[in-house]
Amino acid sequence: MKALLIVDMIHDFVDGRFGSEGAMKMVEKIKTLAEKFRKEGMVVYLKDSHASQDPQLKVWGEHAMRGTLGSEIVEGLSPKEEDVVVEKSTYDGFLFTSLEKILKERDVDEVYICGVATDICVLHTAFGAFARGFKINVVEDACSGTSEEEHRRAIEYMRKIYGAKIVRSEEL
Ligand SMILES: [Zn+2]
Repeated sequence: MKALLIVDMIHDFVDGRFGSEGAMKMVEKIKTLAEKFRKEGMVVYLKDSHASQDPQLKVWGEHAMRGTLGSEIVEGLSPKEEDVVVEKSTYDGFLFTSLEKILKERDVDEVYICGVATDICVLHTAFGAFARGFKINVVEDACSGTSEEEHRRAIEYMRKIYGAKIVRSEEL
């Protein structure tokens, strides 16, 4: 079974505090991918949802605070009833969350990762998947990085170091 992991497509990372043109451009693309995975597998949304003591806030300042609009998934990608939403407090969607349990309960052995940012939460979530033995695919054109250079570097890192397969949305 396959799962699409949609990383941090929330207001603060798409059109809010740390939003970018690149992230906004991916909304339609990820929407199409999600429709496909609902038929052939499952869709999991990961979203930053911070409490005031989270260590990450020391680096970035307040963002994606739990219960605020900034931590909500953008309207264009609103989850459907059958989708799963997992709140995370670190860069890695597996760390301190129930993601591994959810995937294993549904016999997921292969993940397709997309979203933002390629070089931060996508990268760390790919490591979480790698450490737990999932087969990893990164949907290159459905990820956006903090810069084009950082995006490319992270893609190459995941390919080389985690053995991730780098795919494009039109191949899926
Ligand atoms: Zn965060």
